[in-house]
Amino acid sequence: GVAACLSLSACSHTRGGQYADGAQGGIEKGATIGISMPTKSEERWNKDGNNLKKKLEAAGYKVILSFADDKPAQQNADIENMVNNNAKIVVVASKDGTAVGPAVEKAHDAGAKVIAYDRLIMNTKAVDYYATFQLEQTGVLEANYLIDKLGLKTGAKGPFNVELFSGSPDDNNAKYFFKGAWQLLQPYFKSGVLVSPSNHGGGVNKDFKLSDWQKISVQSWKAEQAQKDMESILDSSYAHGEKLDAVLSPYDGISQGVINAIQSKRPDMQPGGANWPYITGQDAMEIAVANIAKGTQGQTVFKDVNKLANAVYDMVMEIAQGKKVTGLNGKFNNNTIDVPSELLDPQNITKDNLPDLVKAKYLTQDRFDKLV
Ligand code: BGC
Repeated sequence: GVAACLSLSACSHTRGGQYADGAQGGIEKGATIGISMPTKSEERWNKDGNNLKKKLEAAGYKVILSFADDKPAQQNADIENMVNNNAKIVVVASKDGTAVGPAVEKAHDAGAKVIAYDRLIMNTKAVDYYATFQLEQTGVLEANYLIDKLGLKTGAKGPFNVELFSGSPDDNNAKYFFKGAWQLLQPYFKSGVLVSPSNHGGGVNKDFKLSDWQKISVQSWKAEQAQKDMESILDSSYAHGEKLDAVLSPYDGISQGVINAIQSKRPDMQPGGANWPYITGQDAMEIAVANIAKGTQGQTVFKDVNKLANAVYDMVMEIAQGKKVTGLNGKFNNNTIDVPSELLDPQNITKDNLPDLVKAKYLTQDRFDKLV
């Protein structure tokens, strides 16, 4: 990767020559590394955690891998346990990016390096590195799919009925996903080509702002919550055969909740048929692969977690060997410091390129064939 020196804070990590933070030795084989994941109940974190664990164990490290059941207090206890077991590096995909601060500060105070995995840890100096996928790009891909399908660039006048969702309010990523989408969709709300008939989030209209994103959020990214929200949207504004043209969903689980709601409230809408809305997603979950094949979901954003695990593995090895961390190509501000970051590219997936998931070895051909 590139040896980037993108900001003062990033530069300070390279001070003193080839050693990170002037470390002379690094971390011995057999030392403990902690991996703290937010939950088992969403598909990707299981892959994320186990991929990284396997690689680190193969390199001779002891790994403590924990899943926090979407509970911030549980995650903090998990990280404290890692510190008590003398973990030299902790890798954290936070449930709540702010609530996890005190736990990573303890880890840092004990001399461990802290890597924020996929989700940034907020409001603390105790984050050394961050690795994720270009965040706004996720929203850009989702919005562009809707813009394309609705023909907005080729002059379709609408008005089109669109309902919008954002991710979990305690996840810094969710804001950026929405930001990427909103900056593309907002002009169409301003001109009246796109409208949200429901009062979801207090009403998404031309005055809706990026800073309002939490009003349309789904706590903990839960499908069940999204389904309830979508059911009340349908009850309030689509109970008399009104057309629903599109739904911006930031995550496949939320998309599934939306699909369930439509199927229960609007049996007249034919799954994948002409009056079925365009629905986006993220993560290329197995259920979404099946939904895209069926036509109930139109799009997802594929984030190759194998690549993210590789990037973080490389960071860990460089830190362990007392080398400078490479591959950094950006920085993210967490309200306290600029965190040196490695940003990977997400990929747009629709029915047309669904088999790319097999090519990327994200799914086996066998598994894929069972889903589609
Ligand atoms: C991740 C997404 C994921 C979402 C729900 C976000 O922080 O970046 O990939 O879809 O959490 O798990």
